[in-house]
Amino acid sequence: MTSRPQNLRQTAEAVAAERAARSPAGADRLSPNDTQAMLQELRVHQIELEMQNEELRLAQVDLDAARARYFDLYDLAPVGYCTLSAQGLILQANLTAATQLGLSRQALVGQPISRFILAAEQPTYYLYCKKLLDSGAAPPCELGMVKHDGTPFWGHMVASAAQDEHGATVLRMVLSDITARRLAQAELRIAAAAFESQQGIVVTDAARVILRVNPAFTAITGYTPEEAVGQTPRLLSSGRHDAVFYAAMWSAIAASGSWHGEIWNRRKNGEVFPQWLTITAVQDNSGRPTHYVGSFVDISLRKAAEEQITKLAFYDPLTGLPNRRLLVDRLEQALAASQRHRRQGALMFVDLDNFKTINDTLGHSQGDLLLVQVASRLSACVREGDTVARLGGDEFVVMLLDLCEDSAAAAAQAESVGKQIQTALNRAYQLDGQTYHSTASIGVTLFADQKVGIEELLKRADLSMYEAKDAGRNTLRFFEPQMQAAVTARGELEASLRLAIKEGQLLLHYQSQVTVGGQRTGVEALVRWLHPERGLVSPREFIPLAEETGLILPLGQWVLDAACAQLALWALLPEMQNLTIAVNVSARQFQQSHFVEDVQAALQRSGANPQRLKLELTESLLVKKLDDVIAKMIALKALGVGFSLDDFGTGYSSLSYLKRLPLDQLKIDQSFVRDLLSDPNDAVIARAIVALGHSLGLQVLAEGVETPEQCEMLASMGCDAYQGYYFGHPVALANLAASLLNMPYSPRQ
Ligand code: C2E
Ligand code: CA
Ligand code: CA
Repeated sequence: MTSRPQNLRQTAEAVAAERAARSPAGADRLSPNDTQAMLQELRVHQIELEMQNEELRLAQVDLDAARARYFDLYDLAPVGYCTLSAQGLILQANLTAATQLGLSRQALVGQPISRFILAAEQPTYYLYCKKLLDSGAAPPCELGMVKHDGTPFWGHMVASAAQDEHGATVLRMVLSDITARRLAQAELRIAAAAFESQQGIVVTDAARVILRVNPAFTAITGYTPEEAVGQTPRLLSSGRHDAVFYAAMWSAIAASGSWHGEIWNRRKNGEVFPQWLTITAVQDNSGRPTHYVGSFVDISLRKAAEEQITKLAFYDPLTGLPNRRLLVDRLEQALAASQRHRRQGALMFVDLDNFKTINDTLGHSQGDLLLVQVASRLSACVREGDTVARLGGDEFVVMLLDLCEDSAAAAAQAESVGKQIQTALNRAYQLDGQTYHSTASIGVTLFADQKVGIEELLKRADLSMYEAKDAGRNTLRFFEPQMQAAVTARGELEASLRLAIKEGQLLLHYQSQVTVGGQRTGVEALVRWLHPERGLVSPREFIPLAEETGLILPLGQWVLDAACAQLALWALLPEMQNLTIAVNVSARQFQQSHFVEDVQAALQRSGANPQRLKLELTESLLVKKLDDVIAKMIALKALGVGFSLDDFGTGYSSLSYLKRLPLDQLKIDQSFVRDLLSDPNDAVIARAIVALGHSLGLQVLAEGVETPEQCEMLASMGCDAYQGYYFGHPVALANLAASLLNMPYSPRQ
């Protein structure tokens, strides 16, 4: 529709004008038809007008709604709107602005906006307003503001100058609360500053691929960001922790979100260093880790300091040996352990004789030098697990662990170490430009249980050390009288055995060895000691001592020579010339590098027939350097000497070595023979030994045969030869012939 008439009069005029235009003659007279038509048209117009009114009403409704929406928007907008007078008084404010400033909209009206701006920010605000009023606009500004109740907040203002309906200048302002953003920015700045900290920081994704590292990371590890990013932290792995360690670490992170602890890592230059590491998982809303942040500090220095402190606290600075505190600590553990394992331990006080003299005459620095050398000599004398400590001055303590269960044997062990210590400490010392000699007194006490306290033990060892000093220095004394007695007796025994070898107090007894037919084929030579006061002493008493002290070497040599001499003599007697002599050879003797030559020399000196000499070896010999043993056996075999394996079945019997040895005979150990009839096990073993020996082509001899029943049973097993009281005790040479004549029983085939 084109422009609409405004009212009825105008409409009527418009209609008349239209008619006049259509009929120019007599047009000013209205016919009834015309009137009718006019009325008709008027009605149409009226309807049109009503429609127009309805449209207007609807438009008004629209407008009202739009206005309401506007006010909603105005009030509920996330930003504050204020209209200010040119003087900065609030003329109007929306709801958000009211909330921001902490007063109702009505209460805000008339308030100067400046009262909501922090004093420090006022100059900025005035400059801003001035710019607005001068030029109508100004770039947004951020201001520290304060609510009515005093709560500070950060405001962001955008404003423009305008004219109100009366032509007055007003400022329309949009105000936003940007406190949260400012805080976030500050946090970011803090985080960034933290990232630049002295701690090494590494950020990885959920797959532990490194995304970022900080400069401290590079400073500590040596890896630049370019080298680290894209790798995993395995780059730093030192290899000192096993998979279990890392698995525990990651499961802790999975369970609690973080882990911290000490860890050894490797720098780019290969150096392994300790660090204190904290790993934190960054999780998304559903709790899934999205990143890991590891921060660490290099604690090498702290660790070194800790170690230094421990060293000072537990070690003697001069010698580096444990000090009294550490000794007491270890002694406590040793007491507990010895109670558990029932093994004896020994505590030794070692004190240098005349240390004061060297300190006084040569000076303290020389004295220190001496102590350092003593410390290292002492340490060389003990086994791993034993402790050498310095209590101060020239007082050293040696703690020996894991000695024998039997206290007499333990005392012997302790004494032997004590002797070694004395020998070591008696050697000359090279001090600054001079040679110095010293001796040491040693006090010993044994411990096997906790009944005696630590202090008491130390006191005992100390006391016996003073006794050792009283006894003339360079001596060793036990605290326990019975130990002292045992050790003293041993010492005496050793001295007199030494003398016995030299003075010819040893002699040989012979025990017959017979075949199944009862024929004597040879004898075993068994050494005896004819002691001037004690009479005949059994080898069971002195052979072990001779083994320990090394006296077995001259002793064994003497037996060998005596046996060869005997063989040479028997060669001249028709009844004896076919007899062999079996000589026991100790492992230590056989292991002598010149053993083959020794035997050869003995044979040559005496002129004995090597075919008549049989050497009895024990399995203990075969434990080490088997190739060397075999080579020696082969060399002796080449001379014509025979071999028997003694005490067979009690040792480390192994078929593999048996096959390689050039043996002639196995001797079933007497322990199996003793209970042959009563213990089925022993019978089975004896039978097995016979079978084994035969399968290797060896003769099998049973020793310790005492009864005809044993003999019979052994014969039934196929045993080839016998030795034992049943056929004759070991006897002196003179009685040998008689025992031969009195042979009581000849087992049948
Ligand atoms: P062995 O080599 O096993 O010697 C056999 C031991 O059993 C001898 O003890 C002997 O007297 C004893 N015996 C012999 N027949 C019987 C018997 O029917 N019943 C019982 N119960 N015992 C019997 P002996 O002479 O006291 O020698 C003990 C050990 O001393 C020897 O055991 C041997 O290992 C060692 N020994 C003896 N003489 C020497 C030697 O000259 N050199 C070396 N290295 N050790 C020797
Ligand atoms: Ca023997
Ligand atoms: Ca034996």
